[in-house]
Amino acid sequence: MTAPLIEIVGLTRTFHLGGETVTALDGVDLSIEAGEMIAIVGASGSGKSTLMNILGCLDRPDGGVFRLAGQEVSTLSQDELARLRRRRFGFIFQRYHLMSNLTAAGNVEVPAIYAGTQSSARRKRSEVLLSRLGLKERLNYQPNKLSGGQQQRVSIARALMNGGEIILADEPTGALDARSGEAVMEILKELHADGHTVIIVTHDMAVAEQAGRVIEIRQGRIVADRRTNAFASPQPYQRDDEVSHVTSMASLRQSVANAAAMALRSMAAQPLRAALTMLGIVIGIAAVVAVVALGDGSQQRVLTQMEELGASTIEIYPGRDWGDEASATIRSLSVGDAQALMAQPYVSAVSPMVASSARARYLNKAVNVSVNGVGADHLAVRGRKLEEGRMFDVAAVEQLATDAVIDRNTARRLFGSENPLGQSIMVGRVPVTIIGIAAQTPGGGQNLEIFMPYTSVAARISGSNRLDQLIVKLADKVDSAQAERAIDRMLQERHGTKDFFIFNNDQMRKAIEKTSRTMTSLITAVAAIALLVGGIGVMNIMLVSVTERTKEIGLRMAVGARQSDIMLQFLVEATVICMAGAAAGVGLALTAGLLFGHQGGDFPMVFSIQSIVLACAAATLVGLTFGFFPARNAARLDPVDALSRD
Ligand code: ADP
Ligand code: MG
Repeated sequence: MTAPLIEIVGLTRTFHLGGETVTALDGVDLSIEAGEMIAIVGASGSGKSTLMNILGCLDRPDGGVFRLAGQEVSTLSQDELARLRRRRFGFIFQRYHLMSNLTAAGNVEVPAIYAGTQSSARRKRSEVLLSRLGLKERLNYQPNKLSGGQQQRVSIARALMNGGEIILADEPTGALDARSGEAVMEILKELHADGHTVIIVTHDMAVAEQAGRVIEIRQGRIVADRRTNAFASPQPYQRDDEVSHVTSMASLRQSVANAAAMALRSMAAQPLRAALTMLGIVIGIAAVVAVVALGDGSQQRVLTQMEELGASTIEIYPGRDWGDEASATIRSLSVGDAQALMAQPYVSAVSPMVASSARARYLNKAVNVSVNGVGADHLAVRGRKLEEGRMFDVAAVEQLATDAVIDRNTARRLFGSENPLGQSIMVGRVPVTIIGIAAQTPGGGQNLEIFMPYTSVAARISGSNRLDQLIVKLADKVDSAQAERAIDRMLQERHGTKDFFIFNNDQMRKAIEKTSRTMTSLITAVAAIALLVGGIGVMNIMLVSVTERTKEIGLRMAVGARQSDIMLQFLVEATVICMAGAAAGVGLALTAGLLFGHQGGDFPMVFSIQSIVLACAAATLVGLTFGFFPARNAARLDPVDALSRD
């Protein structure tokens, strides 16, 4: 003879409630063959549900032996128990325990999710089962649109989803009217005839009489065990293994997708709550993305301006410092200095400048202009645009040529609509030829400017060899601080005194970079605090959610979810909330960028993909971190406790 399907010897279970000890099961011996249909009867509180829970591997006994198909159950781990529940048992509850935000078909599919069944196979099987139970037209109904009898049939379909070799029904007709109760009993009898082992708890003798065997429990002990009709020997249970299962990797992907869908559904069910939960994350992420974009925008603008000033240039002025009153009269920098500097190996170009002013005349029109005596690459070094014509070249500087570039204002004032190029004008008493027109300096006002070779200005207009400024362009890969020291030494030697000062725009660049680094760490700190606050909000709502959904968690465990499945579910939910918040936050920041951030406006914003990706990654991390504690709470719930919670 083979071992019985279920074999129980001397089973005990006690509960400790406060100081009291309640013995729910007090030495139960029971043997059940495969294919039996059994009714367990007894008064309320006699231990029927406790026995059912132990039989279904939802609860563990304190003592005694429980063998399932010859295997001792008490030695199994939590995950192995979950596997047994998944593969062998189908639970039917008095109160159905359907998930209210899933359709009938969705509810029936739940056990197969944890069994790793492919979603198409899952869907098909749930339709077949529901159709068989007369619910073909109700597949997509939510439970609250179904009658009690219909809901119980959905829960029977769910019990059969993974096979349901052993059906455990705790008062399945207890909440139903007589007609629906009879229908449910008919179904259970059919299942028995098909080979399922069916165990029903009931206190209705009329129900019990329909089973082949009735076991009566009183105060935790079996007091009667009788077979009413001869033990009908049904056909053996056939496990249908045609359902295709997915690999563990695909199963993880499926679980994540399912959990995410579940999370979205529960968010949609309570949109206000979801919105308020996400608010912290939304604000945090929006602030971070916007501020980073602002920072990047202003830094880029400053750097562009610096670029326009020219890369790695050192400027030398007469006098001791900016605003030195003597600097207007001191003329310490000379053309000789420029030539000496030009000879240094670390210098690639020198652009001297002589500033003067003169009266410019064309025909009968005359205006006062600033005459800038400059080098050939002055416009390039200063980032001034040439709008028409050309700039004079190095040869023109060497030959003291009288070529000139005038700015747009001067051209307008002297020539009106006439073309100035190639025309001759008088600057002071010197006739010069106009070869180009420069753009106005942005914001440069109504200044009238003429650019001429500094040699010509020195010799012909100002009549002095003294320079007002020297711009030194350094050779590639020269350290600007070292170059500055070398220039300082050399000029002091030439002048015998320090009657000049040096402005190194590399220092300014470094200062700007340092400021922006400080800004970045400040922003990071603010972002971290914002996300922390958001995360605490998410954790709070997840804890509430775990409490609210305790019953659902119990049910998921009953149909075979492992602790890790429950953990994953809540982690994914927390993460989905955070990611949705992050998406909304990024959207908000981009909208703000559109509203205020026109390039060149007061708030230049530059959004980088990196900052957006980083924000989303941070949100995910927040979800995982702050979801962990609630998720662990959920996973550690005791299935029986959880199921009995209201
Ligand atoms: P029945 O299903 O036959 O009505 P139960 O198996 O639910 O009875 O309960 C048997 C006894 O064990 C009762 O006295 C009940 O109060 C007690 N009991 C059941 N579950 C718990 C629990 N989780 N904690 C404390 N006492 C419990
Ligand atoms: Mg009970």
